[in-house]
Amino acid sequence: MPLPTRRGLDAVPAYRQGRSAPAGASKLSSNESPHPPLPSVIDAVHDRLGSIHRYPDMSAAALRGRLAERYDVDPSLVTVGAGSVEIAAQLIHAVAGDGDEVMFAWRSFEAYPSLVRIAGATPVAVPLTSEHVHDLDAMLAAITPRTRLIFICNPNNPTGTVVGADELERFVAAVPQDVLVVIDEAYVHFDRTMYYSGGTEGAGIELFRRHPHVAVLHTFSKAYGLAGLRIGYAIAPAEIAENQRKVAVPFGVTDLAQIAASASLDAEDELAIRIDEVVRQRDRLHTLLTAAGWPAVRSQANLVWVPAGERTEELETLLREGGVITRAFAGEGVRISSGSAEDIDRVEAALAASAANPDLSARKEATV
Ligand SMILES: *Cc1c(COP(=O)(O)O)cnc(C)c1O
Repeated sequence: MPLPTRRGLDAVPAYRQGRSAPAGASKLSSNESPHPPLPSVIDAVHDRLGSIHRYPDMSAAALRGRLAERYDVDPSLVTVGAGSVEIAAQLIHAVAGDGDEVMFAWRSFEAYPSLVRIAGATPVAVPLTSEHVHDLDAMLAAITPRTRLIFICNPNNPTGTVVGADELERFVAAVPQDVLVVIDEAYVHFDRTMYYSGGTEGAGIELFRRHPHVAVLHTFSKAYGLAGLRIGYAIAPAEIAENQRKVAVPFGVTDLAQIAASASLDAEDELAIRIDEVVRQRDRLHTLLTAAGWPAVRSQANLVWVPAGERTEELETLLREGGVITRAFAGEGVRISSGSAEDIDRVEAALAASAANPDLSARKEATV
């Protein structure tokens, strides 16, 4: 007798984690921070270890209060989750079910299509432009009476491209108000076109203030270096936030994650220095790849996308042989996370070694 399975689950691919790196190699496959946790964050977590026999504060009141103050919104509009992946799932479950459509650009964050299918909804993937940017006109044209939610990943993973605040404003204004637009700003801290212009936050929070059908998604995993603790948050319209709380897994966010997030907000000046360094290495990575003849795309995230097409495996292999683990999408391209200066030194050495060794490309051509 076969065990029960849920109908439709065959269509859901399991999430693939970025390759792990052998000891000593540079792990540039998951867009993590290359910096170890701040001592003040470690201390805060350490101080809390004595109470892990207790359940966490499910409402994350202290952290949500701080975020509400920072963005000048009511605390009831701030929701937390075990990473912003969980928040993305909450938002989908809050607005979409069987037969509803959830739209996103493609390629974009790999979790979107599976999260949509798991909710029983239908994913609608709209191709990026030839410049690897969200095609907002095509997305508008793809809206149907069944559309419930549209993700805009800005900057986009894996391409690092952004859509500007004005374009985004026009888009949001054109989307019917019974469709929720979710601006996923996982990489906003690395965006030098928006985040630092005028010294404000990313475009998402501004759009949230001006339109009734916008939610913003932020995470502590990337710029703040807490990927291992799993914590992210959304700022969403009241009715949406209320329904998110209904679909959230109870106690999904630990006290350790909450306290680490608060400690990180206390250390933003220190974190800004680290973020600047990641941005410097990202731009250096772009320059090195371009100089070596690879079609790297200008990035505003902590990663560089190389749409290498049929040379994807060649690039992934030559970097791996140089001790650099990346994320390759077969036949499409390679995503390389920005790392420490030493990590990018390795990329430089690997590119130089392959240039000095024409055998490698000749060998490749022979096997194609
Ligand atoms: C990494 C990432 C996230 C967040 O991941 P969490 O660790 O779950 O917070 C969200 N959106 C995008 C586009 C990402 O790349």
